[in-house]
Amino acid sequence: MVITREYHFSAAHLLPNHDGQCRRLHGHNYRLLVTIGGPVYVGDGDTEEGMVMDFVQVDNIVRPIIDELDHRFIAKGDEWPYLLGQEYAAATPDNFVVIGARSTVENILTWLAATIRLSLRGTDRELARITLYETERNSATWEIQ
Ligand SMILES: [Zn+2]
Repeated sequence: MVITREYHFSAAHLLPNHDGQCRRLHGHNYRLLVTIGGPVYVGDGDTEEGMVMDFVQVDNIVRPIIDELDHRFIAKGDEWPYLLGQEYAAATPDNFVVIGARSTVENILTWLAATIRLSLRGTDRELARITLYETERNSATWEIQ
């Protein structure tokens, strides 16, 4: 069985090589759907009896990861010349999160999926599906095979 919890965060980015308006600095109100899969706990008296995973536990895993992105500039790391200069970036590291790939919805989703899967390691639950909406009409989805 799977359970899904929804999250929201806001972030800025730019796609410096893109042949379109996404080349310019702008932001999105991202919507994230995280789906966790596994068997339903049946243990009598267990705190998670009847659940795949307590939604509070899902929050404990996902919220710190969302907090890394929320109200930050999501960067590959080579965008500084397009912004305010390397000195500004170095002086204000709290403004940025570097994911090491161009900050498309696909690559932000890949970073989120890898980070959440790492946090789930050691549990008997797994990330079954994750969808990131960049706009109401544009999204990317990763699913376990
Ligand atoms: Zn964008």
